[in-house]
Amino acid sequence: MYELTVYHFMPDKLNLYSDIGNIMALKFRAKQRNIKLNVVDINETENIDLSKADIFFIGGGSDREQALATQALLKIKKQLKDAIEDGLPGLTVCGGYQFLGEKYITPDGQELEGLHILDFYTESKEDRLTGDIVIESEKFGTIVGFENHGGRTYHHYDTLGNVKYGYGNNDTEQKEGIHYKNLLGTYLHGPVLPKNHELTDYLLEAAAKRKGIPFEPQKLDNTVEEAAKQVLVNRALNQKA
Ligand code: GLN
Repeated sequence: MYELTVYHFMPDKLNLYSDIGNIMALKFRAKQRNIKLNVVDINETENIDLSKADIFFIGGGSDREQALATQALLKIKKQLKDAIEDGLPGLTVCGGYQFLGEKYITPDGQELEGLHILDFYTESKEDRLTGDIVIESEKFGTIVGFENHGGRTYHHYDTLGNVKYGYGNNDTEQKEGIHYKNLLGTYLHGPVLPKNHELTDYLLEAAAKRKGIPFEPQKLDNTVEEAAKQVLVNRALNQKA
């Protein structure tokens, strides 16, 4: 059996709104293709060897937990940046997405240093951007999820797509997330991967390709997943009407 390894960063601090479900979705869809997914929890960053990771995942957290996680991840920021530049597939959600940038400004104006892996920043406000979200993505089709963040993120990179309902990166641009090399950053909790098999398969396929493992993108029957997604799309768009 083929194997892939996921490094799950800071699961003890960053697991808002069941972000752990993303790991379950990766495991499930890998198994359907006879790939065993090994999950390594990284709560301490000392002496880690990122070359052993085929995918990485960072979930979301409150501002406090986010600041603690950033301190730990600052120790490996060069390794992480090099790995991302080299095409390591990764998913980062909300707080985990925000701290890849230059800085995170809290609602009371405090500046928390980011990892400086990508050139963007996030400014948080007291009023939160919360609720269901629907995105149309050229690459992934319709993406659905749930968002709850004070942070407004501004960047010039590719995004996951255009927001049809909800907020996404901020309350002005109608764009959601980031897509840089094989890195996906998103505000979508819920968790995002079980609701969007296209994103799950994108990460698995990128990891498999990088490792030279065969991967059949079309292999699985997604009828149930598509029907569930349609319910969420209808619910969001009816809320709008
Ligand atoms: N602290 C961040 C914000 O509110 C992240 C929250 C989250 O991960 N859901 O913007």
